[in-house]
Amino acid sequence: MSPIICPVCNEVCSLLDAVDFNKSCGVHGVQVTLAGIPIYYAHCARCGFCFAPEFSAWSPEDFMTRIYNDEYIIFDPEYIEHRPRESAACLLSMFPKLPESIRHLDYGSGNALLGKILRESNWNSTDYDPLVNRGLRIDSLGRFDLITAFEVFEHVPDIRKLISDLRLLLAPGGIILFSTLLSDGKIHANQRLTWWYAAPRNGHISLFSRNSLSILAQECHWNFGSFSDAFHIFFSSIPPPPYADHLIRTNR
Ligand SMILES: [Zn+2]
Repeated sequence: MSPIICPVCNEVCSLLDAVDFNKSCGVHGVQVTLAGIPIYYAHCARCGFCFAPEFSAWSPEDFMTRIYNDEYIIFDPEYIEHRPRESAACLLSMFPKLPESIRHLDYGSGNALLGKILRESNWNSTDYDPLVNRGLRIDSLGRFDLITAFEVFEHVPDIRKLISDLRLLLAPGGIILFSTLLSDGKIHANQRLTWWYAAPRNGHISLFSRNSLSILAQECHWNFGSFSDAFHIFFSSIPPPPYADHLIRTNR
């Protein structure tokens, strides 16, 4: 077997554990039967990134057929409506007076409901999802002052592609707001991977530690901060742009 290289810091990684393909984040009242397919997760001892290497060989069609299929909604019932509405409410409260000159991109937009709600509130919003807009050249989108990526990072099979996309799409001085639950204290070398968030059936195949996000930010010359264990910001300039100044001042 060839060595497994950490896509964040290039360290050689060890396999940590295998979980059943049907391991999900858990939905109350949903009984899950095992698929009988082991999914191995590797763990980087240097940066803490944890990932399932076999998904790097999957095509977008594989993901649509085997994970984001008709049954996906059973494992992630909030995906269709609740989460986009909640995310929109969050953004509208964070930026109550976002100028229309600010170009916003929702990266990993799924069914594009978030962007639709924001456009109804006069945001200059564009949707892009690598799995939905498969024929679209990303360099045709232009650059954006504000990029959001809700529930995206943990779903990405190719971290290098994600970072390359974001670098291409972010306008000078722009900011990226993204959600992903940090793995710090949840994943340990030589221990079983029992964390609920490590869930192939939900498409949770890339699990970030705070250190791994920090390394990615440094590589891109971005600053990195977190509002919570699940909501984070990359921003490229200090001082931040005027429309985001209030966020970064309160960021811990
Ligand atoms: Zn690493």
